[in-house]
Amino acid sequence: MTQQIRRLEGERMTRSWHLDPPDEYARNHHILSWWKPEYDAILSELILEYGHGWHQCITRELEDRLPAAGIAAWRAKDPLCEQYAYYNVLTNFAVARARTTGLEDTLPDERVVECAVCGESFLTTSLKAGVWRDFGTDFCGVCLARAFWLDGDPVATRESILEHIGGLYAAWQRVPPQSVGSREVFGSSFEQRRELVKILVDRPATDRVREVFGSWFEALVAASVLDGAAQGMARGTRCLANDGHVCLSIGEKTIDDLMYAAGIAHTKEPPYPEGRMRADFKIGSALVEYFGLAGDPDYDAKIELKRALAAQHGVALIEVYPANLADTTELVARLSAAVGSSPAA
Ligand SMILES: [Zn+2]
Repeated sequence: MTQQIRRLEGERMTRSWHLDPPDEYARNHHILSWWKPEYDAILSELILEYGHGWHQCITRELEDRLPAAGIAAWRAKDPLCEQYAYYNVLTNFAVARARTTGLEDTLPDERVVECAVCGESFLTTSLKAGVWRDFGTDFCGVCLARAFWLDGDPVATRESILEHIGGLYAAWQRVPPQSVGSREVFGSSFEQRRELVKILVDRPATDRVREVFGSWFEALVAASVLDGAAQGMARGTRCLANDGHVCLSIGEKTIDDLMYAAGIAHTKEPPYPEGRMRADFKIGSALVEYFGLAGDPDYDAKIELKRALAAQHGVALIEVYPANLADTTELVARLSAAVGSSPAA
């Protein structure tokens, strides 16, 4: 892992993979004879979406979007395609054309900026195509790779793992999953993103957590994060989920954020079909409850009551317990299954 990090550090000031074909590649009349203005629009779209990394996406996009029959006819006629792979001919044509016709003029200037996490300088064009699109230029490729794509620290100590979990929990206000997807983090404000990336850069390796604690769940327990997630918020504290829903505990917010990220439509605080009790969420016709304090006799009595009420009205009740927050894949699958559900007749 350290080797990979060293390599990435050496690439901070290098442009990521790109092509530099001579201008004459744009004058290939075998291609120009069928090239249409709307294909230029595709190039413009890629430039806008992927910035300087757009060369990395051309081949795939053009193969997907240009008529296959047209490409086949051209390949059969263009002598260059006997010498080179046709997709390289096409990709180099596209790059030369975008440059010579001014389409590439809309690219942002290449700049040297400082990473918001490590403070090191890096070239904005060192970021790969999708990275630039998804994360902008606030963070260097090294910090992003360490936070999201590399393996994590294989020798992290017990203390450092606990500290890591506690830090994520506090900064993020949710129960952290074992591997945090970049998309989950990038839904939040810049300050929070920076805080999270800073913490994630030093995350422990998955295997190491298993070695030290047995499982992610046990690590969450040892870090007291699940106890914390069970407690309601202090009066007057608002805990806002990413979709704007007000949540009453961090456990609830964790579930809400998971649903939002997975595109599971839900409402908050739906009433039970009878009486004054409310559930935490509703998906389709199913009620969802986060039973954070299960084990307390009064609380357990209330759980029984809610179960009975749901059963009596033929309403599905999805029960979520703190332990379920450790396995987000399984939890999201259970919640997704309720989408579009309608009440039992
Ligand atoms: Zn950095």
